[in-house]
Amino acid sequence: MRRLLILGATGSIGGTCLRAIADGRLSAVPVGLVGHSNVRALEELSTRFNCPYVLNTCSAALEDFIASHEADIALNGIAGAAGLEASLLCLRHGMDLALANKESVVMGGDFLFAEAARLGRRIIPVDSEHSAIYHLIQDHQDVDSLVITASGGPFLGRKDLDSVTPEEAAAHPTWKMGRKISIDSSTLANKGLEVIEAGFLFNMPPQKIEVTIHRQSVVHSMIRLENGAVYAQLSPPDMTLPIVAAVDDRHSRLENVVSPLSFKNLTLTFQDWDRKEFPLLALAYEALERKKGYPIAYNAADEVAVSLFCSHRIKYTDISRLVARTLEAGWDCEAPDYESIMEIDKRARQVAVQCSSCF
Ligand code: NDP
Ligand code: MG
Repeated sequence: MRRLLILGATGSIGGTCLRAIADGRLSAVPVGLVGHSNVRALEELSTRFNCPYVLNTCSAALEDFIASHEADIALNGIAGAAGLEASLLCLRHGMDLALANKESVVMGGDFLFAEAARLGRRIIPVDSEHSAIYHLIQDHQDVDSLVITASGGPFLGRKDLDSVTPEEAAAHPTWKMGRKISIDSSTLANKGLEVIEAGFLFNMPPQKIEVTIHRQSVVHSMIRLENGAVYAQLSPPDMTLPIVAAVDDRHSRLENVVSPLSFKNLTLTFQDWDRKEFPLLALAYEALERKKGYPIAYNAADEVAVSLFCSHRIKYTDISRLVARTLEAGWDCEAPDYESIMEIDKRARQVAVQCSSCF
């Protein structure tokens, strides 16, 4: 059985993984749990799963813990930019990475994959769309382009968005997830981050990554082959499957991870998205086209904007305006290592906070 380190153990991804271990759908032994602020929940999990934990209070504490708990693979379910450091530490301490923390890919970009290659470690995506593509691609060499599905969030087609509250924005129609990713799903910033994530993970230019709105969240993504055929992955909207498929990758035959889909009464719809309605998705395409510091600044500005929105300091509609303003500052700087990535992240956060004072 694989020895598994779980980062973000108290979150939605961490919880789904631990439930799958508890009910036998995932064969893995948790050897360490990493959390951040929810000490009580972490202590309870530690007792229940009989494994040690650490609070990520500083880099040294995190590195000591990762180094001393020899795992085969780490599931990174940390929310936000802090996930990048954890991903790098896990790779450097000899672990493969089952990666839910999309910020690691968006910020780390080519550097993260170069590090994994240098260290001989694998990065297996957990994000449902990327998990779908990752597994579809295994069987096909002649992939022309990718089609990523988006639920469209709770406000699709709605015009009066100025008065939207954080609670309304966090109420996702099909997935149950943490607060930041749920709000990002309503603005399609989450899809924007995923377009950038797909660009780096599968080495695809933005023109080869299409987003389609698919309200049912049953088709998790598709690949188009050069011959014109399209292959899709379908399953219920449940993160257990991508988590189990990533952690147990290549080890056992997976059985009954999620209930099989019934086609007796299933309607699947697809529609285009509108650049004016979802400016954050359009901005992400530009950030991927430009690369360099742009993806890092996009993520940082969005984290600042969502946090200001959650504390009622800016309106819902200001989130995209703030990200756009931050990107206008220009991020044509190279990010060849962790220090330069974090420097750009820091500067982008400062610019975003300054810009927000004009709103
Ligand atoms: P949650 O908000 O539910 O959980 C976040 C977790 O990260 C918590 O365990 C939290 O700890 C921990 N955390 C926060 N900050 C830090 C830090 N500085 N250091 C260490 N741990 C920290 O988020 P989700 O589980 O929804 O999402 C996690 C990641 O997975 C995100 O990157 C998201 O985009 C991605 N993802 C999530 C999906 C989902 O279905 N939820 C689907 C696809 C991707 P504590 O509670 O102790 O503060
Ligand atoms: Mg996703």
